[in-house]
Amino acid sequence: MGFLTGKRAVIVGLASNRSIAWGIAKALKKQGADLAFNYQGEKLQGRVQKMAAELDSDISLPLDVTSDSQIEAFIDGISTHWDGFDILVHSVAYAPADQLEGRYVDSISREGFRIAHDVSSYSFAALAKAAQPLMSNRQGAMLTLSYLGAARTLPSYNVMGLAKASLEANTRFLAYDLGAEGTRVNAISAGPIKTLASAGIKGMRQMLSTVAETAPLKRNVTIEDVGNSAAFLCSDLAAGITGQVVYVDAGYSIVGMQLN
Ligand code: NAD
Repeated sequence: MGFLTGKRAVIVGLASNRSIAWGIAKALKKQGADLAFNYQGEKLQGRVQKMAAELDSDISLPLDVTSDSQIEAFIDGISTHWDGFDILVHSVAYAPADQLEGRYVDSISREGFRIAHDVSSYSFAALAKAAQPLMSNRQGAMLTLSYLGAARTLPSYNVMGLAKASLEANTRFLAYDLGAEGTRVNAISAGPIKTLASAGIKGMRQMLSTVAETAPLKRNVTIEDVGNSAAFLCSDLAAGITGQVVYVDAGYSIVGMQLN
């Protein structure tokens, strides 16, 4: 019996079999959780439904997180299947392509800042707010995905670093408020992984090879690495952990300097 047997998990952010959300979904399922998914727009509907079915889920509902009415309809839709749920995974980020190349000071714009923060940080609070009535008093867990750019400068990551810093603060504020009703809120800061979203960041291939050379584990992380850590953090095994950013990055973030 898996350590998530009897738990229900809503996963927001599945787009392909390279998605971090897919690694998390597989790990949660392996530990016994029942799953529900969103898809962002009709283009992704068929693919998400097919992948959901692979994990014995027939709950896939539309959700673009920039729409308040879609967030409401999504949570209402979940409530027609489940009277409550235990796990909310937020694996969503976006910034316009022109924000993710060149110097931060050159690329930053008011609109780029707004979109990056709306989709990548505000949406976590908006979903938590909407999900709260269905998750309270169940010893539940919320989880989001961050990146090192929240704390350090990195080439091309630019405004997304600011959005991730906001997302990590969001994690702490949500953890404080929801703790009283037994809900824990954490973030995983994952090392770079080739996905649809990360393909938009200029220099991604070089970032992957730099991490593999520099990280203590001398490799990149996989969606399975992130998925297994997510399963732990969303389970009762992590009952004492909330408001934290856990690095799943092969140790890259602890290295101060490497001499070749
Ligand atoms: P991905 O492209 O597979 O997933 C990104 C998801 O965001 C997609 O499912 C997409 O539909 C969704 N999304 C974007 N805008 C949306 C909107 N308006 N409404 C609803 N959904 C929307 O890429 P991924 O790398 O798996 O990204 C998942 C999360 O992991 C992101 O928060 C990302 O920043 C984070 N992350 C990724 C890496 C990496 O290197 N891939 C590293 C650290 C953190």
